[in-house]
Amino acid sequence: MKPITTTKDYVQSLKGLHHAVYYNGKRVKDVTEHPALRPHINAAALTYELALRPEHEALMTAVSHLSGKKINRFTHIHQTVDDLIKKIQMLRLIAHETGSCFQRCVGFDALNAVYMTAYDIDQKFKTDYFEKFKKYLLHVQESNVMVVGGMTDPKGDRSLSPSRQADPDLFTRVVQRRSDGIVIRGAKAHMTGGINSHEILLMPTQAMKEDEKDYALSCAVPLNAPGVILIFGRQTNEERKCEEGFDAGNTQFGLVGGEALIVFEDVFVPWENVFLCGEHEMAGLLVERFATLHRQNYGGCKGGVSDIMVGASALAAEYQGTAGASHIKDKLAEMMHLAETLYSGSVACSAMGYKTPSGAYYPDPLLANTTKHNVTRHIYEIARLAHDIAGGIVATMPFHGDMENSDVGRYVKKYLAGVQGVPVESRMKILRLIENMSGGTALVESMHGAGSPQAQKVMYGRLGNLEQKKRWAKRLARID
Ligand code: SF4
Repeated sequence: MKPITTTKDYVQSLKGLHHAVYYNGKRVKDVTEHPALRPHINAAALTYELALRPEHEALMTAVSHLSGKKINRFTHIHQTVDDLIKKIQMLRLIAHETGSCFQRCVGFDALNAVYMTAYDIDQKFKTDYFEKFKKYLLHVQESNVMVVGGMTDPKGDRSLSPSRQADPDLFTRVVQRRSDGIVIRGAKAHMTGGINSHEILLMPTQAMKEDEKDYALSCAVPLNAPGVILIFGRQTNEERKCEEGFDAGNTQFGLVGGEALIVFEDVFVPWENVFLCGEHEMAGLLVERFATLHRQNYGGCKGGVSDIMVGASALAAEYQGTAGASHIKDKLAEMMHLAETLYSGSVACSAMGYKTPSGAYYPDPLLANTTKHNVTRHIYEIARLAHDIAGGIVATMPFHGDMENSDVGRYVKKYLAGVQGVPVESRMKILRLIENMSGGTALVESMHGAGSPQAQKVMYGRLGNLEQKKRWAKRLARID
């Protein structure tokens, strides 16, 4: 495969993929031509395009520790704390360009998590996963393909373990071991960037027990392999992406990652692409590492998206004549405080990162979890403040089509006018941006992306060192 360098290369590569994508009950022939899928492709394409701009080279590219060549940072294994920090800076930069999720970080985190864990598995079980994974990584770095990080299984009845589910496929599993590879069956849910990626790197969804060896699985699969089916997830205001005009808010890049349900119906995977198969003791470590690496990100990308919300709210206030009010200035200051709090969490967990036995660097897990937990709260508060500043019109404004209509357009322009000299269309566009960025799927992505708040609380129990905290308190209170 010709290496992907430009947006044009990326789009062409997707045209040639011929993977089985379904949108609203219909098979999609060409994802790049579909109006509801194209914005997500545009967002991911910036991960290629920005890497070509000299001013972003330091953030968007890195030097491969395997080949010594310059590579896209999204295919890099973190070699230093500086790499961890640059990752966060890069995510905020791209969020400023897209105002949306640009998806490629999930695969980036999967590559790093599997790399460091494959090394540890080999140390413990004398397997050869690490060498195989390095070959796979080299292929990803040289071809510059986009990889989905595939962790979340559908999980069925959450009160039952994988092996006790009525349908054993609710957790992705090995159904056949052959001399040349394995056959897998199951599905991965909420797969960010699924329909516009080239490959998926599967990981287990949770720690596995002795009788769940078939579910302790990590492997790489091309998304056009026979038996792989992608079903795109419906989003809030999905239909607006297929309309002309500005009602979709962010018409060019969408609002969220473009998630898909990816089904594996007896898919063959050759042994060279298998990086965990049956060593159930290591599944939990791989899950924890991937989760930490993705939670590290959220103050970067969501901090950047929040900056857009702050800017849009300030413009809405300017356009409707409230920008000078002290309570508006106070709300904007509060929004900025929250955005910078998110960002500082991501920078902090990166700065406190450390080297794993594999040589790859890893962010501080407790701080990474705290960062993501803050995102589940602060993004909602930022959205609340944006709604407060924008006013009720953010939810009741007529269609773009009404503004264009020969009968009622003049009324829309007359009665939606704000400050003199500001075109009504500008006011409507900024309100639509706020509306779309602050509701429905966009909020849920902040709540559950990279794991739900409860998943972060579980980590406080494990990493928060409560016993030490009790000892400190006892000492000061002079309790023996
Ligand atoms: Fe990347 Fe953020 Fe999207 Fe996750 S939510 S894939 S970190 S942009």
